[in-house]
Amino acid sequence: MTVRTDARTAIVGGGIAGLAAARRIQQAGGTPVVFEAEDRVGGRIKTVRRGGFVYDVGAFIYLGSYAESTQEMLDVGLGPQMHKFNAFGAMPRDGELNFLDLSKPLSLVRTPYLSGRAKLKLAKLLFFLARHWKDLNYADASGVAAIDTDTVTSYSRRELSEEILDYVAAVVVRGPWLSDPSYASVGQLLWTMKNFFKPYFYGLDDGMDALPRAIAARLNDVRLATPVTNVADAGDRVEVTFLQDGREVTEEFANAVVTTTTGRALEIYPQISGFAREYYENTDYICSVNCHIALSGRPSNPATYIMCSPREQPDLCGVIVDHLKANNRCPDGMGMITMFCRHEWCLDNLDSPDEKVIDAVLGFVKPYYGDLSSKVVDYEIGRWRDVVPIMRKGRFHAVDRFMREIDPAARVQLAGDIGPIPGVNGALVSGQAAGDRIVGQLSAARKVPA
Ligand SMILES: Cc1cc2nc3c(=O)[nH]c(=O)nc-3n(C[C@H](O)[C@H](O)[C@H](O)COP(=O)(O)OP(=O)(O)OC[C@H]3O[C@@H](n4cnc5c(N)ncnc54)[C@H](O)[C@@H]3O)c2cc1C
Repeated sequence: MTVRTDARTAIVGGGIAGLAAARRIQQAGGTPVVFEAEDRVGGRIKTVRRGGFVYDVGAFIYLGSYAESTQEMLDVGLGPQMHKFNAFGAMPRDGELNFLDLSKPLSLVRTPYLSGRAKLKLAKLLFFLARHWKDLNYADASGVAAIDTDTVTSYSRRELSEEILDYVAAVVVRGPWLSDPSYASVGQLLWTMKNFFKPYFYGLDDGMDALPRAIAARLNDVRLATPVTNVADAGDRVEVTFLQDGREVTEEFANAVVTTTTGRALEIYPQISGFAREYYENTDYICSVNCHIALSGRPSNPATYIMCSPREQPDLCGVIVDHLKANNRCPDGMGMITMFCRHEWCLDNLDSPDEKVIDAVLGFVKPYYGDLSSKVVDYEIGRWRDVVPIMRKGRFHAVDRFMREIDPAARVQLAGDIGPIPGVNGALVSGQAAGDRIVGQLSAARKVPA
């Protein structure tokens, strides 16, 4: 679609949602201007490089199911550095690791990880998942809202068993989301199971942030270190105020997309109204203190990731083995593991000294990797207050209403990981959809006779 080229669109936030929105608009002939508060793009996708090690301290993994993100990688020329890596998992029970190869579904049947009775209950859960497979999409949350009447705990206790709760359902919402089954919606359990049913991940050789960097490199106007302080819908235009060299500057735009986390969005754009305001005000986020440990050697444990039942590890949700999840993460022969812990532990340790955090996580993984303390050569700790929205029971109802009430004609559109399911792909899809709505507005304006 071609649009008026004199009509600029302000994009607030250079995370994946903002960049995806900007790219859609620019591809359609529009003029997006991306304002990013920090001196880098990517937001919660953040990669730090030091001493030959590549630390993905924000988002860890592009799941095999992320169709839109992988398409974007190809579109921006990342094909040559995009590789599939085996999602070879391990789950501890009674101190022993049970390996799970998703490329061999029969391994699920044979695994000693679950009792025979639990495997029958698991079949019931898989049947429930199959019935709602089509409802678990990014465009329409009404199907998943219809089943959003239980927490993972209440559903598992009523329909499944205590064993499935502890060793499957809790693991599925803790591993990727650091969340707790006592408040996570059963909808999140199904969503995650669907997304994880791929036997591979995608790794980018240059780090997780290669995707946002590549998108930004194709945009004409990305302004780093330029925080927006106010967005005002003035009826026939949008006024965007931002800090430039310490001074407040206001520029006019035809429209805007606000893609920051919800609390920040409410501050910057106080005109958010109606149900969107209620939805944004009621969004709270998972916290993470994630540790990335560079090692002098590679542990022999072959799993790409470990996900832990709360019965085995109350505070550790999981481990990702960086040198197995992508190329070029470490110098030859050296290794790296990433550990992530449950939300409540992270809240307690958000400001704890590095040494305390590192000691704690090395203690958590000792049963699987032995004592790693003498092998640590460097580390990074990601301290994030806002990781992803908490998908509490009832949130899918709210997501559904929020999405249905989006006004495609509103001059200021909202985007980010605020749709049916958070994460990189959800944010990217949300940004693309907001970009498409802006393109629709610009092309409609073009058709109006002068
Ligand atoms: C530790 C961690 C691990 C994660 N792991 C995964 C994973 O493995 N897989 C997965 O899919 N997802 C993961 N996620 C979630 C994923 O990173 C996010 O859902 C996604 O990146 C959100 O993108 P976004 O564009 O909506 O928001 P953001 O990335 O937060 O982008 C918003 C941008 O707005 C900018 N901004 C804020 N205020 C202003 C302002 N006033 N003016 C201008 N700019 C402003 C911010 O600096 C930021 O760049 C993880 C997140 C974290 C933190």
